[in-house]
Amino acid sequence: MLKNLCMTAKIIDGKLLANKVKEKVSIAVSELGKESIFPGLATIIVGKDAASSIYVKNKGKSANEVGIKSFQYALPENVSEEDLLELIKNLNKDNAVDGILVQLPLPKHIDSDLVIDSIDPSKDVDGFNILNAGSLFIDRDGVIPCTPLGCLLMLRSINVDLKGKHAVIIGRSNIVGKPMAQLLLKENCTITVVHSKTKNIKNIVKEGDIIIAAAGIPNLVTYSWIKKDAIAIDVGINRLKIEGKNKLVGDIKFDEAKEITSYITPVPGGVGPMTIACLLMNTVFQCAKRNNIAEPSSLKELL
Ligand code: NAD
Repeated sequence: MLKNLCMTAKIIDGKLLANKVKEKVSIAVSELGKESIFPGLATIIVGKDAASSIYVKNKGKSANEVGIKSFQYALPENVSEEDLLELIKNLNKDNAVDGILVQLPLPKHIDSDLVIDSIDPSKDVDGFNILNAGSLFIDRDGVIPCTPLGCLLMLRSINVDLKGKHAVIIGRSNIVGKPMAQLLLKENCTITVVHSKTKNIKNIVKEGDIIIAAAGIPNLVTYSWIKKDAIAIDVGINRLKIEGKNKLVGDIKFDEAKEITSYITPVPGGVGPMTIACLLMNTVFQCAKRNNIAEPSSLKELL
């Protein structure tokens, strides 16, 4: 069925775009350095989950690459909620720290909502706490979660008019699906959010001019789910063992989808690097506002 098709999608290169964003952040950090101001990002990880440890390590490394000071806290799995809250309280007061990131998920004995809401909203670099989430919902200024922001910048990078496009978002989590819906609504898209209980999901996804896949189900979206020339943004990161080798795949079956979409993001090398770039951007342009850094008048000019 796929053989006779001559069209293949253009790949939206997340690594390339992320490097452009990082360059802008790096320039801003050097400007600040001349005034002896050094933006700082604190990351907190609890326990030894392998994937989370890699994410946090990469975030710290990327921060250092652009000149952001990275403060990393690795706490044991059995740390008490009280001790974690105490650490956050101290980081909230610490002038060397502009952004605070708590890697999720947290162990079950810790109330994640309480922890996230204890971060000073102006240092909530992930944009997950109640004030920033609410600000996005009612169109007020606030910190925008990194992954949806990265997806939006990827969409903007291809210069497609988003106005009136039907965006189907697969997944309704607080960190990806819901904020993504709000951001695209702001771009004047028409939004449908589908999730694990949605009936007839394939037919709904097939109506999307834009598909944002964030379900965490490997290869969920196949050729027959996709409208011709749709734009596909794959947020999913799924680890599979294929022929004895570990492989990362997204929620969209890439080889099939690239034959019918107009643009598609790869996994790896798509949304992942952009998430980290947006974290650095948020640290400097959103959270370090106390340093009076000129924020770009529009995020578009970053790309
Ligand atoms: P989550 O588990 O919190 O939410 C998943 C959502 O998908 C839920 O709303 C659920 O209703 C929906 N869902 C589950 N099964 C479904 C199905 N069969 N059909 C339709 N919807 C279904 O996950 P999350 O934190 O939002 O992350 C989603 C995926 O994105 C994961 O693979 C995660 O690793 C990845 N992720 C990637 C980045 C990145 O930087 N690239 C960042 C965050 C999350």
